Amino acid sequence: MHHLRNHLAAAALLVACALPLTAHADPCKLDISGNDQMQYDKQALAAPASCKQITVTLHHSGTLPKEAMGHNWVLVNAADLAAVAQAGMGAGIANDYVAPADKRVLAHTRTVGGGESASVSFSPALLKAGGTYEYLCTFPGHNALMHGTFKLN
Ligand code: ZN
Repeated sequence: MHHLRNHLAAAALLVACALPLTAHADPCKLDISGNDQMQYDKQALAAPASCKQITVTLHHSGTLPKEAMGHNWVLVNAADLAAVAQAGMGAGIANDYVAPADKRVLAHTRTVGGGESASVSFSPALLKAGGTYEYLCTFPGHNALMHGTFKLN
């Protein structure tokens, strides 16, 4: 199994090197997209624990306005996902669907509509090595489809 994973990693590295224009040299800068079909393009993100800051940039690759198909990127302990989604719905679009001063929210972007992007930077010190973290979109009804795992490596 490890052998296969190493192979895949090597293959991914080769592809990245072959495409210098699209490769991200900095492992502390992560990108993720959300579309008009209520989907993120990645189900998992990871960054080195050695990063000073981790920056996540969310792109909305669709065309619908944020009132109809808004997306954000909210980082939480996996156990808090449902509660944060619920609180976010109540907070409304004026608060980017994130309850103000919600301590369960470790980091979040603002809510974007089609064609827009938003970034958030945070310290890996917020996360425990080996902890289980998830990211989600807290736009009402989106978290069931729009979530993924986040890891320090
Ligand atoms: Zn969304």
